[in-house]
Formats: sequence, C-alpha cells, structure tokens
Amino acid sequence: MGKDTYYLTTPIYYVNDVPHIGHAYTTVAADVLARWRRLNGDRVHFLTGTDEHGQKVARAAEERGMTPQQHCDDILPRWKEMLGLLHISNDDFIRTTEDRHEARVQEFMQRLYDQGDLYKSTYVGPYCVRCEGYYAEAELLEGELCPIHRQPVERLEQENWFFRLSKYAPALLDLYDAHPGFVQPDVRRNEVRAFVEAGLEDISATRTEFSWGVPCPWDDGHIFYVWFDALLNYITAAGYGADEEAFSRRWPADVHLIGKDILRFHAVYWPAMLIAAGVEVPHQVYAHGFLLVGGEKMGKSNATGIRPSELVEHFGIDCYRYYFLREISFGQDGTFSWESMEERYTTDLANDLGNLVNRVLNMVGSYRDGVVPAPTGAAGDAEAQLSRDRETALAGLAAFDRLAFKKGLEDLWQLVGGVNRYVEARQPWALNKQGADDDLDRVLYECVDALRVIAVLTSPVMPDMAQSLWAKLGLDEALEDQRLPEAGEPGGLVPGVRTERGQVLFPKLEE
Ligand SMILES: [Zn+2]
Repeated sequence: MGKDTYYLTTPIYYVNDVPHIGHAYTTVAADVLARWRRLNGDRVHFLTGTDEHGQKVARAAEERGMTPQQHCDDILPRWKEMLGLLHISNDDFIRTTEDRHEARVQEFMQRLYDQGDLYKSTYVGPYCVRCEGYYAEAELLEGELCPIHRQPVERLEQENWFFRLSKYAPALLDLYDAHPGFVQPDVRRNEVRAFVEAGLEDISATRTEFSWGVPCPWDDGHIFYVWFDALLNYITAAGYGADEEAFSRRWPADVHLIGKDILRFHAVYWPAMLIAAGVEVPHQVYAHGFLLVGGEKMGKSNATGIRPSELVEHFGIDCYRYYFLREISFGQDGTFSWESMEERYTTDLANDLGNLVNRVLNMVGSYRDGVVPAPTGAAGDAEAQLSRDRETALAGLAAFDRLAFKKGLEDLWQLVGGVNRYVEARQPWALNKQGADDDLDRVLYECVDALRVIAVLTSPVMPDMAQSLWAKLGLDEALEDQRLPEAGEPGGLVPGVRTERGQVLFPKLEE
C-alpha cells in the first residue's frame, strides 16, 4: 500500500502549559486545512496531542506533590477541552507517555545508536528549561537570557549521548535546495538554510539529571532528550514500527503546522533524525507567525495570557475560527484586538453574510411560501457576474492548500458580496410588484443556490454556522457528504425544497 492519505499535524502541546490563543491559532488552522481536504474528497489523518516528558513537567509535578504521570493525567482534560471548545476534528490524539509511543522511540533511537550516529561526550552550555533547548553563547540576550523567553538560562554540564547532527548538514542543505517547499514560508526556509550553512554542532540526545522521559535502552540512567522523544510522535502515532500498512498510507506527512519559535527543531533536527534512520522526510514544515495583542481592551495582555474561551464566549465559535485566519496572514506576525474582532463580526459575518441569508430567505418566504422555485426566467448580465464571483471563490479557496487562509477567505467573500450585489441589481421586490414571476423565480433560485455553495465553502472554517445555514435551506443531502468540485457547481440546488428562515446566524453582540 502506498501513500493515499493527507496527513497533517499540530505540534504536541506541553501538557503543563495553559491553552492560550497561540495554541488555538495553530490548531484551528490545522483543523480548517483538514476539513478543507476532506471536502475535496481526500482521506485525511489529522493528529494532535500532548508532550508529557521533560524537566519542566517533572518540576511542576514535584511542586504539586504528585508523580509526573499523575500530574499529566490530571491536566490532560484542559487540552481535550480546548479541542472540544474549538470544534477540532482530529483523527488521533497522542500522548508521549503512551506505550505505542515510548516503545517506538526506543527502537528508533536504538537504530541510530547501532549505526554509530550516537556517541558519548561531555557538554557544557547554556540551557533554557522552558524551551528544553540548548543555546550557543552568541544567541543569548544580554544578561544571559533565553532569546525566546527572556529568562535566565541554566548551565548544564553532563556526560550525554550525542547525535551526529553535523554529519547531516550537507544532506539538509540538499533537502532545502531540492525541495524549496520543505520549509515554508520562504523567509523561514532562508533563515533555516543560513543557520545550517553556518555550521551545525552535534546535539545532546539524552539526559541524566532527571528521570521523567523515555529510558535509553542501552545505557541505564539516561533518558532521551525531550525533543527527540516529542518529534518522533509524528511517526509513532502514524504507525511507524507498529502498523507498517497504516504508516505507508500516511507517511510522509503532508504538513507539520508549527509556530516559528520551534522552527529549528522541526526544520533541522527532525529531518536530520529521519534522514539518519532512512525514513522519508515530511513534505512540508509550515511555520506561522506570532500573535501580537493590540487595541484598547486587551492591549495590555500578552497573547499567551488570553484563553480562547474568553473570546468564544463573547463572539461564538464561528467568529473565533473565522477571525484569526481572515485577519492575519498565516505566515506572518499579526496583531489581534478585541476591537477588530468586533469589526469582523459585525461587518463580514452579521452584515455581509447573516443579513444576506435573512433577506433571501425572507423573500422566498413571502413571495413563494418558502419553497424554492425553478429558475424559469432568462439569465442575463447579472447572472453572468454572479457566476464569475462564484468562480473567484472556488478558485481562490485553493489558497488554503498553501495555508494562505486570508487570501482564500477574501476570495470567498467575493461571492458573499457578489450575492448582495446581485440582489441589489435585480431588485426582487420590484419584480414581485411588477408581477414578473419568471424573472423573480430566476432571482430567488440563484440566490438560494448561491447560499448552498456558500454553506459548502464556509464549512471548513465555520462548521457550525455552515450546518445551520444548510438546515435553513432544507436540503435533503447531508452537508458532510458534499464534495468539491461538484458541490460548488451552479444549479446543484433541486427546485422545490422548503426553506426555513429560523434564527439569524450572527445576532447582535452583547455590549
Ligand atoms: Zn526559552
């Protein structure tokens, strides 16, 4: 069996972090991509999970008077709740403390050891416990601070097993050059390439000063460095070493979505480990930018201090999922604010989309008793324009495959705006007054058919809203059975369905 599955991943999250809007950002983007590929007919495998080993987990457990495993079990629900809150459709959830993971990590590392890619040596250097990563002296900020956390680093000196990372520098450079899509966006690839070109040092692959990790099978008292353990989740969860058939259908991963703060681990260490073990590298590592917080209401907060539930409670899950991807270019840093979220809610969602749905269904209700008529009147210029807007939306959404969510949503809103313009151009209320029944039937049909397409196309981003809209249209088939490109074709709506106006999709926000 060869690869037949679109396989995508989020980073696995440090179990003792509190889920914040940064975690949610990566996870929602991955979910939109997973739903988008399913809508296009792909078999999809979407993985997320938790990273449960490492010194900071052990320290947190100790402070609580628990074993590390108890501590992890106790806070795991936080992460599961986040996935529920955000309506994440992951197919698997891996915990790095599971047997299916630990046993495979040992096998993988044993393989590197057996072939001579690990050797024992002493290392002394600055180490950030929060990153669980070593830094070169030159990378530290003034005052010996971690460049990510701006906290003092520790000095670690110990005898460890080292991975011959430097040996794989030429292979990595070949990879970046032969597959420019391997690291995206381009600016990140250039950054990684420059880092590797400047010379790689071998990295420590084990630890001895604490025991919360996967034990090294050939040297008692050593556990694997948490990043080796964590990165391997992408293959252990896919069936590596356990279910070769499943693994061959999924691997290589199509894309690892990550934040740019963990780029080096994913774009340097990870492919080097895989190349060493003779396992194919993933197709792509995509690093999104940082979320910055602006505006009056939340501008004094840090993105890592904002819980997704604070925003979901006020704006609803659909707006939450839509907003971050529409407002910020995924590969770049971007500013989030409460005020701009209000603006998007009111303009894009309540006015452009919610009012449109309400208006169309009101007209079908009052002019045709809620039943969608057959399009009897002739199609003219206005219909031709509507059809172009529909094509723009369909073609534009392909941007999702490049993780250009903002661009895809802009084009999709061309269709939302296009239906609004179409209603204004055709003035169905005037046609009704004139008794131009054939023309009115044409207009009502076109509008409802376009709303059908809008429900399909918005479903990866706003699955709840899309389902409500779909229900209003009274269609027989299920929304989740719709597939592109067929479901985006004009005229897919069967006349005679009974629409239901129901509640408005985006009610006015509470003050
Ligand atoms: Zn750090």
